[in-house]
Amino acid sequence: MALIQLIYLSSLSDIKLEAGIAKILQSSIRHNKVNGITGMLLYANGNFLQVLEGETESVVETFSRICADPRHYDIVELIREPVRERHFSQWSMGFQHLSEADLRAYPRYAPFFRYRADDEAICASPGLALDLLRQFSIDNR
Ligand code: FAD
Repeated sequence: MALIQLIYLSSLSDIKLEAGIAKILQSSIRHNKVNGITGMLLYANGNFLQVLEGETESVVETFSRICADPRHYDIVELIREPVRERHFSQWSMGFQHLSEADLRAYPRYAPFFRYRADDEAICASPGLALDLLRQFSIDNR
């Protein structure tokens, strides 16, 4: 069975929906457990960065559901590639809401959370997205 990893960026449709992120997370964990998906979701300044990993079919099905979700928009897929093993195997969906202090502490990741202002920088270095997700996948702050 082939494992893949998919990473994308998106923006919250309306800042009023920020309070509903906990609901998104609950529903994600519920579905991901059933579908054998693991990963990490980061949120900062109205933008999401998420990694999904699992069997190809499950990841593709989950991502198409996510893409149809009106709670976010401007979804840009950064990475979709086979992996030998999971990097986020401990989470059905880990989550961190990054603060301004986090963004100041890790300036090399700032483009991800200035998103639309920095599209080119992000797309030019998709590997940095994985570094960022891994950095915050352990609560090391
Ligand atoms: P619910 O989560 O109960 O939602 C039912 C429907 O109502 C969905 O279509 C949803 O889009 C819509 N909806 C709910 N609340 C609102 C609202 N406030 N405004 C507008 N529409 C609303 N799903 C996963 O399975 N795995 C993931 O890892 C995952 N990650 C996500 C990451 C992000 C950034 C977002 C925005 C969504 C994510 N989702 C994920 C949720 C996914 O998009 C689907 O909503 C969910 O899988 C459908 O689950 P459900 O049928 O239990 O419906």
